[in-house]
Amino acid sequence: MRSTTLLLALLLLSSAALAHDPAGRATYLGNEGVLVTRGQTKVLFDAFYNNSYGQYTLVPLVIAKAMLKGEAPYDGIDAIFVSHVHGDHFSAGPTVEYMRAHPQVPLYGSVQIKDALAEEAGADDPLLARVIAVDLAPTDAPRSFSIGELSIDVVAIPHAGDRPEIQNLAWRVTLDEQTTVIHFGDAGTVAEHFDRHAEHFAKRRASAAFPPYWFYADEAGKAIIEAHFNADQVIGVHVPAAATGHGDAARARFGGDLFTDPGESRELQDSPARSEQ
Ligand SMILES: [Zn+2]
Ligand SMILES: [Zn+2]
Repeated sequence: MRSTTLLLALLLLSSAALAHDPAGRATYLGNEGVLVTRGQTKVLFDAFYNNSYGQYTLVPLVIAKAMLKGEAPYDGIDAIFVSHVHGDHFSAGPTVEYMRAHPQVPLYGSVQIKDALAEEAGADDPLLARVIAVDLAPTDAPRSFSIGELSIDVVAIPHAGDRPEIQNLAWRVTLDEQTTVIHFGDAGTVAEHFDRHAEHFAKRRASAAFPPYWFYADEAGKAIIEAHFNADQVIGVHVPAAATGHGDAARARFGGDLFTDPGESRELQDSPARSEQ
């Protein structure tokens, strides 16, 4: 009986500590670019691109320069992840520049990303050895990787609109076995594309999910969030630049959380990997 009471007290203490000291943080970079950190474990999603297509946010120069120089909080990046090859998510030039400046950092992306990097850097450039390229069809089983303090899973979710030629990847990354995030790139709101991976999404609870904002804009998207995201927080990205500086209005309009202003951030609660993993 006494040990049960002690255990209960310890549980209460640790959950109080967790509530007041969230170890994870997501910081917005622009469009679908996000920095996720848990202490000194850090990853970047869709962070190196230079095309706004006239309507999306670019990463502000001050942030882009700090990332390139590796200034805090952009120091000690463990890996970078790329959803797909479109210029508002990925551009080969700035990606190669970053990888040359940070010769320890691996990149996870599609074969299309690796091909674009090879074209930019040269087919025999040693940085290509740090590119982990997956060639996944939407119906393929998930792939998994583990590197340092990161556990990584990926499935392909078709790009919004009818663009089957674009490989769009949904990366799920767990930092320190505690903070899990999932980034959906430009996934479309088509139920069957998520339903077929239901087991994969259910397998690990996420602290945060980053879908494109259009998931809030239709019933199919909202149903997918409900059925499959399995996340404590949903933070929409890819909001057009017109919303920058008007985040509250955009969040009210779409009825969900959104990143609108580069530099803004959210605390992430731990979502520990369960024992059956
Ligand atoms: Zn796209
Ligand atoms: Zn896009």
